[in-house]
Amino acid sequence: MSEGIALTAYAIVAMESHDIRFPTSRELDGSDAMNPDPDYSAAYVVLRTDDGHEGHGFAFTIGRGNDVQTAAIDALRPYVLGRDAEDLGSLYKELVYDSQLRWLGPEKGVMHMAISAVVNALWDLKARREGKPLWLLLAEMSPERIVELIDFRYLSDALTPAQALEILRRNEDSKQERIAHLKEHGYPAYTTSPGWLGYDDEKLRRLCKEALEQGFTQIKLKVGADLADDVRRFRVAREVCGPAFPIAIDANQRWDVGSAIEWVGALKEFNPYWVEEPTSPDDVLGHATIARALAPIAVATGEHVQNRVIFKQLLQAGAISYLQLDAARVGGVNENLAILLLAARYNIPVCPHAGGVGLCELVQHLSMFDYVAVSASMEGRVIEYVDHLHEHFVDPVVIENGSYRAPLKPGFSAEMHRESIERYTHQ
Ligand SMILES: [Mg+2]
Repeated sequence: MSEGIALTAYAIVAMESHDIRFPTSRELDGSDAMNPDPDYSAAYVVLRTDDGHEGHGFAFTIGRGNDVQTAAIDALRPYVLGRDAEDLGSLYKELVYDSQLRWLGPEKGVMHMAISAVVNALWDLKARREGKPLWLLLAEMSPERIVELIDFRYLSDALTPAQALEILRRNEDSKQERIAHLKEHGYPAYTTSPGWLGYDDEKLRRLCKEALEQGFTQIKLKVGADLADDVRRFRVAREVCGPAFPIAIDANQRWDVGSAIEWVGALKEFNPYWVEEPTSPDDVLGHATIARALAPIAVATGEHVQNRVIFKQLLQAGAISYLQLDAARVGGVNENLAILLLAARYNIPVCPHAGGVGLCELVQHLSMFDYVAVSASMEGRVIEYVDHLHEHFVDPVVIENGSYRAPLKPGFSAEMHRESIERYTHQ
């Protein structure tokens, strides 16, 4: 069904939540300088409607606390049950502006991530009902409709509705070419799989080789625990990948501003493509200082940026060269629409954070929408890829020649297999 044809109102009649945890710490998958033993987890939500449809969503956590995250999702139940969820703009704003729950943020942390899970589940539901993958559903919406879905509060000094409309209209005439391009070639990916901090040098060497063979055009190494180790590991990666291949580094918030500048300075000879999360995700001015000191090495951040306001400041301060939005940390699809438009306004490429549980499945839709309707460019843009836990998803991502294949099944690719939900539900 195309946009503009009113769908019959439908009611959400059931909402279930699950505390799902995978024991990834056993293999040190996902290990980095701040998170040495993550158990990748999902606080997972399923919505059901009276006409037999489902929507799936989740917040990603790394183990302990996933019960708290799941309880936060449950706190949103009164907003969801019995609702006609077709008007996604209003419901999203109602969730964000609940006068009591808002005290727990506002618009940050556990409650905001819970909103993300529910909002994303509503979008999954909508895309399934309309028989389209989410990226295409969004890409085919009119600029006016997209703008209606966004909460511009706190943004108007950087992005007004009129400016957002202008960005969305700029490349509207050539949308179909980019949709065709995506269906044929997909969207470029980079891989973080070789670079987890807990892997030994032989595993790093083997995985770097495999990344090249698989056609990836960029890799990323975790750094920040021990400088001598970082130098040795970066040397191994450079030996395998060659001097010019883009190799990003990721410190996962390990450093203060001064030590970030010093540490990355010591790795300069290896030509890092970007340094990711060098310091606290809340330290906008710190990122700007690091960016100025390390230029031309680029600074990237976003996976722990709590909302559109911090992204706005990072952009205003010239603190980042790459914006790494996360599908399930800010307020779901609606807030990410605002973030994509902010990035376009400041001409900063979006390279989403992925990995985790199902984040690759989600962010591919946001980048593909960005390419069709917002930035209209893939230049300097790649989606992170990590090759674990995809087998638990009904419509897992497919990587071909180092690119994400455009998903074509209806929905947001968020649904986990029922057996996985049951098997990994935390006891
Ligand atoms: Mg990271």
